[in-house]
Amino acid sequence: MSDYNWCHGTNCHTQQTQSRVRGSGDNKVLRTRKIKQDSEWIRESIFSHFCNQRCLMDFLNVHKDRIIALAPRRQPLETPIKIETEKYESYRYNYNTSERLPYQATRRTIIKNPN
Ligand SMILES: [Zn+2]
Repeated sequence: MSDYNWCHGTNCHTQQTQSRVRGSGDNKVLRTRKIKQDSEWIRESIFSHFCNQRCLMDFLNVHKDRIIALAPRRQPLETPIKIETEKYESYRYNYNTSERLPYQATRRTIIKNPN
């Protein structure tokens, strides 16, 4: 395994930053950035192949149809939940009279793993 990857951003080599300037004399170029694979975090992250979020998004926009085809979703997913409804005393502010007016409010809490 090499100790770096080239950024996969489709326009990485066109962004005008000092970190991309390579070459000498009159033979200067803007080059795709190298990404060092020098930490566990970077090796396990999507940013092991993209130097920044812009390059990631450029790649996703160009290749989105093929990426989606890897795991197409034709139906929505669902997570079973339970809703707990609780009534409580709250206040609303009347700006015309500068009064706090009590009212019965409702708080709905989503319980994700009902058992
Ligand atoms: Zn890049």
